[in-house]
Order: sequence, then C-alpha cells, then structure tokens
Amino acid sequence: MKEKGKIKTTKDISLREKKLREIRKKLNQQRMELISEAGIALTALPDETIFPELGDQASAEIDRNFMLKLKVSERKLLAKIDEAIEKIDNGTYGICEACGEEINLRRLEARPVTNMCIECKTEQEEEEKLRER
Ligand SMILES: [Zn+2]
Repeated sequence: MKEKGKIKTTKDISLREKKLREIRKKLNQQRMELISEAGIALTALPDETIFPELGDQASAEIDRNFMLKLKVSERKLLAKIDEAIEKIDNGTYGICEACGEEINLRRLEARPVTNMCIECKTEQEEEEKLRER
C-alpha cells in the first residue's frame, strides 16, 4: 500500500515528503477556518432588514465594504489553498512555475500557497515595479 516511501532512500526526500504532508494538513486546516470565517462574515453583514434603526450608517457602510473586500481576498486565498492541496496530491507541489526548480522547504512552510521560488518571485516583483513606473 505505502510502498512509495520505501523506495526513496534519500533522507532529504523523505524529509520533504514528511514536510509536505504537514503542509497539506496545515492547508486543510486553514481552508476549514477560511470557510467558517467566510460563513460568519456573510451572516454578520449589516443588513437594513436586520438593523432597521442603525444609527451610524457611515460606519455600517465601512463595515460592509470591509467584509466584502475580505470575502474577495478570502476567496482568492481559498482558490490558492485548493490548488496547493491538489498539487500535493498529484505530486506537483513545491515546483517553481517559472523555472521548474524545487521551491525551498522553508519558503513553502512560510508561504504554503506560493507557486514560485524566491528567486523567480523576486525577479517577478522587480519586473512589476519597473512596469509601474
Ligand atoms: Zn523559480
């Protein structure tokens, strides 16, 4: 059943696999949290029908905007988490999309949803900065 682990003898590979399993667990947890938080945010939306006598309309408006914004960023993160979990499952996780090299484990642990190694990410950010000028 679990023959895969036996074939690989290199310590580094098994450590990486072990770490990837930990990352997958963390991602799954984060996913659950996001979904439940999004659910709360959705029901916590200030609605006129729920708060008919809301005195401070302005702050309610700000709150609503904040919630909506949060939802968009959460949705984006959720998509990234789904993608990362899928990649872990099919064995393509942790490979830089730009150069095809393995992404450093420490970077993956710090930013599990990343799809680029630090070199390529830095390069991309530099290019984006240049384009903005
Ligand atoms: Zn790269």
